[in-house]
Amino acid sequence: MALSCDAYRELAAIVGERYISSKQHILAGNRVKTPEIPFEYHSPDAILLPGSTEEVAAIVKVCNKYGISFIPFVSGVLPDAYANREGTVLIHLKRMNRILEINEEDRYAVIEPGVRHVQLYPEVRKRGLSYTAASVGPGGSVLANFTSTSGDHHTQYGTSRANRYLLSVEMVTPEGEILRTGSLPSGCGWFCPDGPGPGLRSIVRGYFGSHGQLGIITKAAIGLEACKGPAEYRTEGISPHHRVIFDSDLSRVYVFNYDNIQKVCDAMLALGEAEVCSTVQKYFYLPLTLLMTDSANDFWKKWTGGYKEAMSMPLVVHIAAQSLREREYEEKILFDVVRETGGVRLPEELENWWSEHMDFFMVVSRLQSVLRLGGGWMPLKLGADSVQHVCDVGQSIGEYIYEFTETGKIFDAPENYQIIPMEYGHFAHIELLFMWDRTNPAAMKGVGEFRARSRQEDLRRHFHAEDLGCLNPTMEELGPLYSNCHIWMRKIKESFDPNDVANPML
Ligand SMILES: Cc1cc2nc3c(=O)[nH]c(=O)nc-3n(C[C@H](O)[C@H](O)[C@H](O)COP(=O)(O)OP(=O)(O)OC[C@H]3O[C@@H](n4cnc5c(N)ncnc54)[C@H](O)[C@@H]3O)c2cc1C
Repeated sequence: MALSCDAYRELAAIVGERYISSKQHILAGNRVKTPEIPFEYHSPDAILLPGSTEEVAAIVKVCNKYGISFIPFVSGVLPDAYANREGTVLIHLKRMNRILEINEEDRYAVIEPGVRHVQLYPEVRKRGLSYTAASVGPGGSVLANFTSTSGDHHTQYGTSRANRYLLSVEMVTPEGEILRTGSLPSGCGWFCPDGPGPGLRSIVRGYFGSHGQLGIITKAAIGLEACKGPAEYRTEGISPHHRVIFDSDLSRVYVFNYDNIQKVCDAMLALGEAEVCSTVQKYFYLPLTLLMTDSANDFWKKWTGGYKEAMSMPLVVHIAAQSLREREYEEKILFDVVRETGGVRLPEELENWWSEHMDFFMVVSRLQSVLRLGGGWMPLKLGADSVQHVCDVGQSIGEYIYEFTETGKIFDAPENYQIIPMEYGHFAHIELLFMWDRTNPAAMKGVGEFRARSRQEDLRRHFHAEDLGCLNPTMEELGPLYSNCHIWMRKIKESFDPNDVANPML
């Protein structure tokens, strides 16, 4: 369905002809990039590039007037950022890309949606500060992650999830009203997420973010913290052969391998109880081997030449300390815990890779290597619960994944899941990453079958294993397992968005 002439004219009057397009080739280039994912996707009817909050609000009002769905968009790495039905426009926020303030004294930054990690992170680090960055890579929108798509990430063990650091925001509601939350409307600045009266923090960010379903965030303040470990780093080489090195005694990475997940769980809990280390996680061995290689051939040589066995269940630990004494103290506890739980330190050759790729612990800049095999890949589960609970989920994968790996439907890497404890082990996240051969029709069919099987197994066991996301078919299916939150979500959506135009997915 194309936009009516009247709707197009009104939208063009807001942003100017230069910043609107309904050309077919432009629209087709902005369809979802992963057609094998079994959802319905359409070209949008138009793409708009507003330059201010007022323009965003005016666009949203026109959308309500004509019943047009709208989706905010920055990097588009998530499928939810694309049109999933006819009669949809994309509101591309890349022009709104200013860092408005970095407040060193009160430790917060105020940003617009188009600001990427590659822009903000170095600025913050230069000032001896840092923030908890998603593992999406340098091109992801900082604001989208903190407000709208907050998941878990590699460095949350000693910090937390990104959206716990969200302060005041400015947003455009689904009906086009400009709203300011937290300390901002009282004239007290950006520093606090709640102000007088009922807080809107949970509505704005939810647990995983509302993916544009409750409006468009146009400015946000995020909390910063004192940088743990060195503020300076050295880089060598060019991407993807680059290295990022901390020349400092305050930072060390250790990697241990385990032979079963319960021992990993025990180690995570013991480290959390002692409140030591900056990053602790069980990483997935297939992407890890891919990250460590320079070509597809190199990958096969390493994967079949012992890497798979040596790193079958790797526990990656980064100590980032404020002093040498602190580092030594944390090391002592770490080695005691590993000895008691039966971990085996990785050979130097494998462990050293980490100290040369310290970007992993800041803003991961090598993720593209994971696509080196040219196949399809998809993350599953992505939920969170206690460390023991998610380790039980990990353990259960072994009971059904073999039906898919042994028939060649998915890559044979049964332990390819990561577990990341957060806030010193009070809870943890799990992600199962599976890959398949795009040229094999049986494998393409297997993608849907494996997703369905994984969910079925989790529901049967009442596992809190999946990321509920926003109001979509997954939420409807899993809601009963989470206190019927889908019913509450529906009520909130209906009251904020009576015309159901803000990124509807049901
Ligand atoms: C390889 C990979 C790794 C990832 N790792 C992590 C991770 O470790 N942790 C994590 O949390 N996430 C992760 N993600 C998910 C996601 O990419 C990030 O959350 C990212 O910050 C989203 O930014 P984006 O610019 O790509 O947003 P987009 O894909 O453009 O948008 C994402 C969603 O947010 C909505 N949205 C965007 N901007 C706004 C806005 N201003 N107001 C309201 N809604 C908005 C969009 O409509 C869409 O539904 C990963 C993704 C990939 C592909």
